[in-house]
Amino acid sequence: MHPGGLIGRTSAGARVLFLHGDELATRDKSYQRLRRVLRSRAVRALSNAAPTALARVAARALRRKSARSVAAKSAAYVELQATAAAAWCAASGASHVVCGHAHRFRAENLERGARWIVLDAFGGARDLLRVTDEGELVSDGSGVVHTNTAPLQGRGSALSSAPMIIAVDGPAGVGKSTLARALARELGLFFLDTGAMYRAVTLAVLERGLAPADEAACGRVARALTLAFDRDGNVLLEGCPGEPAIRGPEVTRAVSLVAAHASVRTAVVARQRELAEEQGGVVAEGRDTTTVVFPHATHKFYLTASLEERARRRARQENALERLAEIRADIQRRDQLDSSRAHSPLVAAPDALCIQTDGLGVGEVVAQILMHVRGSQR
Ligand code: C5P
Repeated sequence: MHPGGLIGRTSAGARVLFLHGDELATRDKSYQRLRRVLRSRAVRALSNAAPTALARVAARALRRKSARSVAAKSAAYVELQATAAAAWCAASGASHVVCGHAHRFRAENLERGARWIVLDAFGGARDLLRVTDEGELVSDGSGVVHTNTAPLQGRGSALSSAPMIIAVDGPAGVGKSTLARALARELGLFFLDTGAMYRAVTLAVLERGLAPADEAACGRVARALTLAFDRDGNVLLEGCPGEPAIRGPEVTRAVSLVAAHASVRTAVVARQRELAEEQGGVVAEGRDTTTVVFPHATHKFYLTASLEERARRRARQENALERLAEIRADIQRRDQLDSSRAHSPLVAAPDALCIQTDGLGVGEVVAQILMHVRGSQR
């Protein structure tokens, strides 16, 4: 008897256990408690009896709460556990366990020769599993379930691919926005300017006469503010354009202070993840998109350039070469604040591809990234 999930067989006869996957996030005790409540008979009976419109509203509210709660937890805490996958596999007598939930492809060998596959999220570029016309999961006979192979066939075609998330981090003035915007255009993806969101919160804090150092007040503003983007990737505050006000000197001076507050980051990160889901894939740029916001991004890049080069680029962009020294000092100050803060400091993710951009034009960096992205899709 297997303790749950669904059992199937590959065409080569291997027994496969299919799980949702959230039952494997065993370190996340509070989620496991909530899961038990939500899946209890009483709650299921209640949700089945509720009118559809009401159930939808409740589901949306829970999803928002869940996004906020996940944003506040560390990636290691919500990670699916191999020991749990091995235990499920052993209890069901399966040689493969296939699950979703984490939205990040992973394939690992477990104890006793079992294989664990976590599927990518559905709807993007990567093919997940091959299913025959008979609805069987195809195996090559060696115990390896095919992934990244031909397009899906037959039944089970819901098994598709992940939304592409390209995360680009780096210090102020390195040219992330210009590059990410160009990349998003090339790849037909939504451009997510995370810095603009922190700038928008800062503008709202200043407009309300609140102090950027007041964490509680900033957190309240961040939670209450409706942040969205227009079709050109420009941020909207309560539906109104944030540009050019969010680029003004007052906001630029205060933004690193406001962005350092944990409560502000929790609210903004939750919205960033919602946007990525709503848009079905993004090119996101910022300080923590590769480490905190999208630790499971499809591709991660970390851009660097010397302080001198970054100050020159910013001064040219703002048509203000006469203010070069002032711009250099501002970038240096923000580097210091962004790298030394307690919450989500600016660091290169260990699995990000670092690109040193001194002396390179935007086109050259875009070409390098595109080569990498397209190369790994083959
Ligand atoms: O990228 P931009 O210069 O517009 O970002 C403004 C500020 O917002 C940064 O200096 C940083 O303090 C903060 N920020 C952040 N995390 C991000 C993006 C920006 O803390 N992901």
